[in-house]
Parts: sequence; structure tokens; C-alpha cells
Amino acid sequence: MTPTTVLTVAGSDSGGGAGIQADLKVFAALGAYGTSVLTAVTAQNTRGVDAVLPLPPHLVTDQLDSVLSDFAVRAVKTGMLGTPAVAAAIADAAAAGRLPQLVVDPVLVATSGHRLGVVEAVERLLPYARVATPNSAEAAALTGTAVTDVAEMTAAARALAAGGPEWVIVTGGDVDAGAEAVDVLHGPQGTTVLRAPRVPTRHTHGTGCSFSAAVTVRLALGDPVPAAVEAAKEYVTRALTGARDWELGAGRGPMDH
Ligand code: PLP
Repeated sequence: MTPTTVLTVAGSDSGGGAGIQADLKVFAALGAYGTSVLTAVTAQNTRGVDAVLPLPPHLVTDQLDSVLSDFAVRAVKTGMLGTPAVAAAIADAAAAGRLPQLVVDPVLVATSGHRLGVVEAVERLLPYARVATPNSAEAAALTGTAVTDVAEMTAAARALAAGGPEWVIVTGGDVDAGAEAVDVLHGPQGTTVLRAPRVPTRHTHGTGCSFSAAVTVRLALGDPVPAAVEAAKEYVTRALTGARDWELGAGRGPMDH
């Protein structure tokens, strides 16, 4: 028996709340076998990012070769890319058809304000994405437009989908939509608005990483994209709810996987 195998290509969060560590927790929680290619190391806790070291591109390629030559990877996600050179190494693998069902989480800035990536790097990968999962701030940076309500989220999702990804979901956890957390999905079947009750918590560290990791597992298990994003939204709502009363670190805590 072969477990459903997925791959995350992302940065390390020493605090365990986001990045590679969150992705592997989500993969395990949803029943997949997780492999990982590290793009960068961050020194980080619940208060923020203290240091970042991007890895050399050849080491990223070496990790990709090791994983992809030995495992039947069914879906791949990318998170923090670090540098355009690392993004180029990953884009080469995608262009060669080696990254099936690619989910691109366009990580640009941590909620604490620390820059984790650049638009130019993300843009290298977007054309190969089956699904792109920008939050409202990332969608704004990638389109050069304001993304502050559902109408603007919809416009940004459509604009981004025109530039390469088959599907785009703009997540709206940061958008003020009252008691709801609203996401906008756009793809070949049109535009859908997803709604869930907003979980009142400041412990939202790693929500973007976890959402895209959950989409990746569901795609690997055979879900169509709309079902995969719905399942991922339910997963994030549940994981936020589970950690609402945790006391873990002095800052913005992680989710309960
Ligand atoms: N650190 C790493 C390594 C990440 O990949 C991410 C992902 O987005 C973050 C930090 C940002 O996490 P957040 O903005 O949820 O604090």
C-alpha cells in the first residue's frame, strides 16, 4: 500500500506555526505522507521573524531531485520562496512537468511585517499553478490594485487567473466582512464566494500556509478544486477554533492541527 504522498516547498518556521512545520502537520492531520524541500531558514517565534537565510538554489534543486526521484508525489505546494533565484530553480522543475497539481501560496510578507519574498519570485511560478492562494494583501501586491472587499477580491482573482493559474482563491481572513470570513474562488467554472463564521482569535499565525497545505492534500486525494478549497476552509476554521484558548508564546499563536 502506498500512502498518498505530497510535497511542500517552503521555508522553515522555528516556532512551528507556519512554513514547512505547519504544512507537515496539516499533511499528517489530513492523512497524507508529507515530504519537504526547504527554501529558507527563519529564526521565528509567535512574536515575529528575527532572521532569514535563503538557501542556495542548487541545494533546493538537489532536494527536489532527491524527493521526486524516489516518491510518487501526487500534489505539490510552494510557500516562502526566499529569492528569485530559488523561485527560478522551482519554476524549472514545474516547466519540466515535475510538480503535479501545483498549489502556489504567494508568500510575500509575514503578518508581523517581515518580508519573506518578492513579487518577481512569485510571478515566476504562477503560470504553472493549478491553484494560487493569495490572501488579500498578496493579491493586492500581485495585481497592483486595492483588495479590501469582496468586489475587489473578485476582480483580483479574475485578473490573476488571466495571468496563468487555472484557479485562484483570494482568501479574506484579513478583509473586514463582519462576522464572516469570506474567500473568493475563480476558475474555469466561474466565480464562487465561500463564507464561514469568523473565528474570534488573534492566534492566526500560519493560516495561509495551512490553508494551501490542506488544498494540496485534498487535490492529491482526488478532489476537484472547488471541493478541495471548501474542505481546506473547513479545516482552517476547525484548527483556529481548536487553538482559540491556547497560551503558547507571547505573540500571535499558531493553530491546532
Ligand atoms: N514564516 C514562514 C516560513 C512562512 O512560510 C510563512 C507563511 O506565510 C510565514 C512565516 C508567515 O506566517 P504568518 O503571516 O501567518 O505569520
